Amino acid sequence: MANIYPRIYFDNQLVPKDEATLHVASSAVLYGLSVYTVFHVTVENGNYYAFRLKDHFKRLLDSCRIIGIDTFGQDWSYDAFEADMKELLQANSPTKNVFVRASFHVNELLPGTRSRGLKTSLSAFVYDADPIVPTDGARLKTSVWRRTPDYSIPSRAKVNGAYVNSVLARQDAIDSGYDDCILLDSSGHVAELSAANIFIVRNGTLITPDTNTDILEGINRRTVIELADTLDIPVAQRSIDLTELYIADEVFITGTSAFLTPVLVVDAREIKAPEDAITKTLSDAYYDALLSPKSPYQTLL
Ligand code: PMP
Repeated sequence: MANIYPRIYFDNQLVPKDEATLHVASSAVLYGLSVYTVFHVTVENGNYYAFRLKDHFKRLLDSCRIIGIDTFGQDWSYDAFEADMKELLQANSPTKNVFVRASFHVNELLPGTRSRGLKTSLSAFVYDADPIVPTDGARLKTSVWRRTPDYSIPSRAKVNGAYVNSVLARQDAIDSGYDDCILLDSSGHVAELSAANIFIVRNGTLITPDTNTDILEGINRRTVIELADTLDIPVAQRSIDLTELYIADEVFITGTSAFLTPVLVVDAREIKAPEDAITKTLSDAYYDALLSPKSPYQTLL
């Protein structure tokens, strides 16, 4: 399990790791009523560079709006959030790259199944930037579980309770000897992984499920689409059939905790990427954008 750094931001202050606890009767515990995001921080010469921090904050706000957690937007501005993340990193002084998980919990005892007008608290902790899949190549299995559709628990909102769906599917893949799962949407099209988006390459075109396919609108997915545009690689956002994965020239995944990882196997079928693979071109551009302090996506904390 990843190492968690000792100081945690909890309820408007920094506290020791063991004191950052939520009440057993809070809505966050009872219903998974909290939203979260995880962002990458590059550490270089004692400086902290957060990747696409504004986009992460915006997605937290959007998630709250979708779920109806209305006290968050009132209490928090981006500037306050950035200042708190800075304080958190400086209190922990990591010397290597880390992830920060920031969450807004509904921290109210037994309010029943509702979301508006309830007290929220921001928490954030720093942990080692260990990838969730082997970054030199992942092996994926299509899950028997389907991605929770937008009309049940919106995938576009990054809400903690929804991750039971990811846990079911990924545990099943691990039990079968794979690294992660592929979740199909309710109509049988490829959606995403437990915590990553998916791309394929066919005949020189980069293809990824469109945002109406019950996916989380991943910030790294958006980064790769932007980089592909800059590199003049044609991009299509459309429905993908499972069998297209089997015959794709290349398959790769993106996500904060999955970075950009090539896929080697899907359902026991090997993906054989050609030497001049588009994945390699995009991967070089992606890691440069993620890790270079000069990248326009960085916020210096
Ligand atoms: N899909 C799901 C379900 C996820 O949990 C994640 C991780 N946040 C992603 C996709 C990738 O999103 P991002 O690139 O913003 O990390």
